[in-house]
This record gives sequence, C-alpha cells and structure tokens, in this order.
Amino acid sequence: RLDKLKEDNEMEKIRMKQVKEETEIMMMDSTTKKQRIATHTHIKGLGLEASGRALPLAAGFVGQAEAREASGLVVDMIRQKKMAGRALLLAGPPGTGKTALALGIAQELGSKVPFCPMVGSEVYSSEVKKTEVLMENFRRAIGLRIKENKEVYEGEVTELSPEEAESVTGGYGKSISHVIIGLKTVKGTKQLKLDPTIYDALIKEKVAVGDVIYIEANSGAVKRVGRSDAFATEFDLEAEEYVPLPKGEVHKKKEIVQDVTLHDLDAANARPQGGQDILSLMGQMMKPRKTEITDKLRQEINKVVNRYIDEGVAELVPGVLFIDEVHMLDMECFSYLNRALESSLSPIVIFATNRGFCNVRGTDMNCPHGIPVDLLDRLVIIRTQTYDVADMIKILALRANVEDLVIDDESLAYLGDIGLQASLRHAVQLLSPSSIMAKMNGRDNICKADIEEVKALYMDAKSSARLLQAQQEKYIS
Ligand code: ATP
Repeated sequence: RLDKLKEDNEMEKIRMKQVKEETEIMMMDSTTKKQRIATHTHIKGLGLEASGRALPLAAGFVGQAEAREASGLVVDMIRQKKMAGRALLLAGPPGTGKTALALGIAQELGSKVPFCPMVGSEVYSSEVKKTEVLMENFRRAIGLRIKENKEVYEGEVTELSPEEAESVTGGYGKSISHVIIGLKTVKGTKQLKLDPTIYDALIKEKVAVGDVIYIEANSGAVKRVGRSDAFATEFDLEAEEYVPLPKGEVHKKKEIVQDVTLHDLDAANARPQGGQDILSLMGQMMKPRKTEITDKLRQEINKVVNRYIDEGVAELVPGVLFIDEVHMLDMECFSYLNRALESSLSPIVIFATNRGFCNVRGTDMNCPHGIPVDLLDRLVIIRTQTYDVADMIKILALRANVEDLVIDDESLAYLGDIGLQASLRHAVQLLSPSSIMAKMNGRDNICKADIEEVKALYMDAKSSARLLQAQQEKYIS
C-alpha cells in the first residue's frame, strides 16, 4: 500500500507539472447552471430609476418596490467595495421573487457577471464533501475575463519566381516551383516564410494568384490562414509549427474577449480519476463524477490566473453566488462560509430563506432563519412581500410573453386567482401545460377552459398538504 501511495504521489506530481506547463487558459463553453434560471429569463435587472426608485414595471420586474430599492443600494455598496466580508439575506415567503432579485442584482453588476444559483440541500451527497460542493459553487461564481489581441494580416496572393520561392522557403519552395507564397500586404509584397503544412494545404486548396487571404499571427508567429478574417470559411489552416512573421507589419489587431469562470478552468484542467486500465475506466462510467478537482489543482489554477492578471491579460469578475434554502446548511457549512467570505477571491454571496426561527442543523441552537448568530451578524437582510392579485397577473403576463404564449385577460385573471390561493410559482408553472392543453384542444391561444383542465390534473403544494392531512390513514407514515 505504501508503494502504491508513493506511486500515486509521483503520478500526482507529474500531473501537476503538466498542468503548470500546459495551463494556457483553455477555451471552452462555460458550465453555468442555465437550467435553474430558465424561469427567470424575463428578469433583465432591478428596473430602478437613476435616483434608485423602483419603476412600477421595468427590466422584467413588477412591484416588490422596497426590496428592489434595497437591492439597488446593495449593488452600489458592491460597486464601492463596501460588501467585502459581508453577505445578503433575502427573507420572505415562497414565490416572492427572491431568486429573481438575486439575478437582478447580478445583472445590474454587468451583463457578463456570473450568476450561480444553488440550493442548501445540494451540499449533502454521499460522494462529495459538503465544503467541496460549496467551494465548487464559489468558483462557479467567480469569472475571469480574458483579453487576447489577435494580429491579422490581409493580403493578395502573388506569384514568385522559383529562385525567390527557394530563398523564402529555404529549399522547400523549390519543389513547388512557381506556387504562390508571396503575400501582397498594404505595405507591399511580403515574402512570407510559412510552415510547410500551410504551403501544402494552400496548394491543395488551389489558392490562386490574386486571391485575398488572411493570416492570423500570435506574437508575430503565423497561426492560421483562411479566406476570411473570421477564419471559418472554405479553408482554415492551422500551422503545425509557428513561423515568425516580420515584426511591425501587423495589418489589423482584433481584441478577442472570452469569459470563463474559475470552475470552468478547474474542470478543463482536471484529468479523469484513477488509471487508464479497463476496470478503472468502467468504474468511472458507473460514477457520474468523472473528474477530480483537487486542492492542489485549484492552487495551480490560481497561480496561473494571478499571473494572467498581473500581465494584464485577464481580469477578475466577481459574480453572485445565490444559496436558496440556507436553513438546510449545517454548522460545518456555516463555519466554512464565514471563512470563505473573508477571502479576497470571494463572490457576492446572497442567501435566501422562507423560514423564521428554526433549528441550526447539526446543533441544538434555535436561531432566526436557522442561521448561527455570528454569520447573521454579517448579513444585510432584505424582506420580500407577497404579491396582490394585480401584480401576479402582470408577472404572469410577462412570463406568457417570454414563452411566446397567447393568453386572454380572462385566463390571466383566473391564473392570478390560482396564484393567490396556491403560490405564484405554481401559477407560473401552469402556463406551459396549459399551452399544450390548448394545442390538444386545437387552438394556439390559451383559454380559461385549458387552465381549468390543467388545474384539475396538477396539485399545488398547499392543496396536496391538505389532502394528505385529510387522508392520513391511507398513507404509510
Ligand atoms: P422560493 O422561496 O420558492 O425559492 P422565490 O422567492 O425565489 O421562491 P422566484 O422563484 O424568484 O421566488 O419567483 C417565482 C417566479 O415568479 C419566477 O419565475 C420569478 O422570475 C417570477 N417573479 C417573482 N417575482 C417577480 C417580480 N416582482 N417581477 C417579475 N417576476 C417575478
């Protein structure tokens, strides 16, 4: 076992060395949790006037004026860096827009600010440590904006004599005699020394004299050649080796900006766990968690990120981590959060709860919102209020609009009543099945009858609880 441990340790060292060498910031699709914010696509900000007053209906927000104005002040505090070490708590009944407010805050901070929503109970998993889950979500909520300057030459392909070709290509061009290797740039003809793979490919692509082509370079080294400066049409050739271009001849410079999160970088640089033998590969198939992101790996990523920041290539974009049902967290998580909030690499943390006094999990303490008092002390608390039927109808109309549903006023009023009796969330959730019902009934627009039919099929939480109570003896307890 000792030998195995040593071996593992060596492997880990080698892996870390590779990561160090290879951690060029990798390009990838961000792994933001998109599905959970799908019901909030209509929220585009907090909808406040410049003076900070809430507009009755703006940026997809309706009503909830006080909470929106209070959130606006928090946005100002974040901008002035006065929220460091502190966090926000949104307290209010279900469906009163707590998630929507947190998303609104993130959007007010900037369109590319990461928003990472999670639910307190997510930390309980048999495979991953609670603090590990929290750490992963923290890193999902910290963005990195990477700026890259691309040099692009634009030029016309010209013909060179065999002698010129030979002198430019160092012999290689001789075999391709008169083939196009000169590039006419705005500054005159450039006899470019390209990677042989590019020559071959140019010939195969039948690039002819007179054609306009583009060359993308990286610090003066030819990287790609294409027929358009987007490098995505007809041919798009990558050099196997970079060949230096003459300095100071850059024709165009384009700034390419890429937004990723620290978690994206962790995930892209993590390798599959275990060896590569068939058994461990099978094991990985069984376990959904294929990669292991170790503390060491995160430290290496942090180092690289810091280097990029120092070099001015990248900039940190602290985002918003939204933890719903915060009362589900236990003492271990709360201590972790207390520490994590102090870190210089901390996102803005927004908690939400619909509980009053309750037990702090893992203790016998009874605290407001189930949050220990030392953390509670650090929190700015905003209350959300339940909506009246008029506001509910407006919110439902907004949702119907973004979901491209046609619904008449009578149906909206009926849904508003359902929202009042059950919850806004339930009423919003009935929209999609009602539109399917309308289609089944041969219509494109939703009528009250469709909603009635759907309402009879699905129960809201309150009526389900009532039914359970009434028919208690029929259920196993
Ligand atoms: P829970 O406590 O159950 O997590 P919540 O307080 O987070 O609920 P949301 O999920 O934000 O409530 O609200 C339910 C739905 O209503 C969402 O689609 C949300 O975008 C929308 N919504 C809530 N409040 C508003 C508002 N003031 N303006 C526009 N849309 C709203």
